[in-house]
Amino acid sequence: MALVLRGGLVWDGDSEQRRRADVVCDGARITSVTAAGSVRPGEGDDVLDLDGATVLPGLLDGHVHLVWDGSRDPADVVERDGEQLTVLRAVEHARAHLRQGVTTVVDLGSNWDVAITVARGIDAGYVAGPRVLAAGRTVVMTGGHDPFWGNMCDGADAVVRGVREQVYAGAGLIKTAATGGVYGRAVGEEVGASELSRDELTALATEAHRRGVKVAAHALGEEGIRNAVLAGVDVIEHGVFLTEDIVAAMRERGTVLCPTLAVYRSIAGGAAPGYAVEKAAEVVRAHQRGLRMALDAGVPVVAGTDAGSPGMPHPSLRRELACLREAGLAPVDVLRAATSRAADAFGIDAGRVRVGAPADLLVVDGDPLADPLLATTPRCVVRGGAIVD
Ligand SMILES: [Zn+2]
Repeated sequence: MALVLRGGLVWDGDSEQRRRADVVCDGARITSVTAAGSVRPGEGDDVLDLDGATVLPGLLDGHVHLVWDGSRDPADVVERDGEQLTVLRAVEHARAHLRQGVTTVVDLGSNWDVAITVARGIDAGYVAGPRVLAAGRTVVMTGGHDPFWGNMCDGADAVVRGVREQVYAGAGLIKTAATGGVYGRAVGEEVGASELSRDELTALATEAHRRGVKVAAHALGEEGIRNAVLAGVDVIEHGVFLTEDIVAAMRERGTVLCPTLAVYRSIAGGAAPGYAVEKAAEVVRAHQRGLRMALDAGVPVVAGTDAGSPGMPHPSLRRELACLREAGLAPVDVLRAATSRAADAFGIDAGRVRVGAPADLLVVDGDPLADPLLATTPRCVVRGGAIVD
């Protein structure tokens, strides 16, 4: 039994326009995209008559933490709940993304590799949820950023072992930290201070790529961002204190920027404990300038929310898309940042409407190419060829 989406205006994830077409999903994949009116549904097929509504790829959030709940101090909640309750909570957070049209999330840090367990549970069909690409524990230096979910490694040999441990645990990508951060703990890290060295990051990225997985590096300060880019990391997370030489190197190497604008505004606005609020204010001031520099240099930008962090519930993609639009991305580039471009950045087979792609689709009223935020209030969500309740 196939699912037929008939008479919609299809945006494929890449192009500048929508075109009228019928989309057929058989099983978990898209099996045809043909001229409107050309499909003759078979007996028992599920037919949705869309009458000019827009069909587009399900959205991707390139940076979430499923174990965190978006409260004022989510790391503390995890510590109180412990592992088993945290798994249940993470499953519910994943489901919340799917209900609102986020059909893929990239999880960049979870205690006890919980997000890998959630990814496996969803893949096995035990629970419904979005596609989850999970890093599990992060590969960081001893005492590095967010140590509570860190797989702490020092020296090139140790980070290679760290990468292998995460891949063995089932990680779909590697998350590392090239600098300190804003939220996580009250003392012991600063956004400007670099963490794993360039040599360590090079060993890490080389091993990850050898194992066929991408690397996302948490990097705010200038020296750490430069280390990560030159080490061959695929995606720079946050990337606040950028310089002209760094964005030129990113452009040349195809390094992607996932700026996560909304979370720092949220924390600077008072959503987190006091020590983080002050640090976030400095980040917000520098962030806009860095993003402008990256966009002018032609660095690919993808959408990530850090959902689960203080003030950022699951899902929070609407707020990040609004920030990207405000920062000057064209509407189509805002949509690409949360579909095809994000999928490419993380090496995920998703984010496009074309034959053979996963049948993860949204039906939206109105024209999201005029207003990309419309994509965050879908009329209907399809995941793996099935309509989500
Ligand atoms: Zn994060």
